[in-house]
Amino acid sequence: METVFIDGSMGEGGGQILRTSLTLSCITGRSLHIENIRAARRNPGLAKQHLSCVRAASKICTGHSQGATKGSKVLDFEPGPARSGDYHFDIGSAGSASLVIQTILPALFLADKPSTVTVTGGTHNPMAPPFDFLNETFLAAIATAGFHGNCKLIKHGFFPAGGGKISFNIQPWRNQPDKIIDLCQPNSDFQIHARVYTAKLPPRVAQRQRTLLLQSKLNIRNVEHVEVEDSNGPGNCVMIRLCGSERTTVFTAFGMRGKPSEEVIRELVGLVEDFLTSNAAVDRFLADQLLIYMAITEAGSFTTNELSSHLQTNMEVIKKFLPVNFSMEHQKHAYRISCQRF
Ligand code: ATP
Repeated sequence: METVFIDGSMGEGGGQILRTSLTLSCITGRSLHIENIRAARRNPGLAKQHLSCVRAASKICTGHSQGATKGSKVLDFEPGPARSGDYHFDIGSAGSASLVIQTILPALFLADKPSTVTVTGGTHNPMAPPFDFLNETFLAAIATAGFHGNCKLIKHGFFPAGGGKISFNIQPWRNQPDKIIDLCQPNSDFQIHARVYTAKLPPRVAQRQRTLLLQSKLNIRNVEHVEVEDSNGPGNCVMIRLCGSERTTVFTAFGMRGKPSEEVIRELVGLVEDFLTSNAAVDRFLADQLLIYMAITEAGSFTTNELSSHLQTNMEVIKKFLPVNFSMEHQKHAYRISCQRF
């Protein structure tokens, strides 16, 4: 099979191109040559977080890589067959545990036996799926296409201290043609709940955020405060969960030193309001994460409120490995994305 050449500077030009390429290389068995890795980032090339993804992909696919060093902008990856098993990966920094999982999950779903994976690293990181999103939004969405897994948070890890732990159980995927991602209708009957995580912070932070959440125009039913005691360092993130009978969508904003709670809550409420006015079924983050699963099943569609550059770049990368096409239809305030066999 021919090696797939990927230009890491295309579209979004970030780490997602590398992760998606590794995933696709593992599931298709095609070798990968990627250049200009993370060319659009301030610190281009492979960072520790990305090296963890390369290592994890190599491990489950008995793969070989060249160029897997810090700062490298070129990587060659040659996968072997994906193997189910019990895996443990330690990112050794606050790098996101979810992004390592995101990279290897499809190959483990396509393996012949169940697997368990434990990852040590960040569990609640800005710019990555927080554990709650994986657990409540992502896994439920892919289960509609027959990809069944569950996850457990063993220890919290906030950026920058990290040191958290999550574990995953992954069942082999059985192809059932009637099971495809069909997430086009907005959640109709849902309740809005909020969750505030604080670790090693004064109580006034959560109190202030709770007040601001309840003052927002969203009809928030209750605000749950999770005071994290097992974390290595301080942390704060706030979530709004749209809990419907069929699905839950988790939105997150992160607090950090120098960022007032007003700004955190404004950012979060803005994300939810944009989503609700669009009448879309899938938020912008889930949107880019569903594409690979649609490509595996060569079918499926969803509506989303934003055509993010991640979404568009992921489509381009997927098309280089798999015989699928994606179509986009602009609706009133949303976009409908569908996948078909080429
Ligand atoms: P870098 O180039 O620095 O590595 P990156 O480009 O790899 O960054 P992103 O490309 O931003 O990182 O990708 C992050 C991934 O995390 C995407 O799949 C995105 O959907 C997901 N993600 C980011 N923020 C959230 C969030 N709040 N909730 C759920 N998923 C998120």
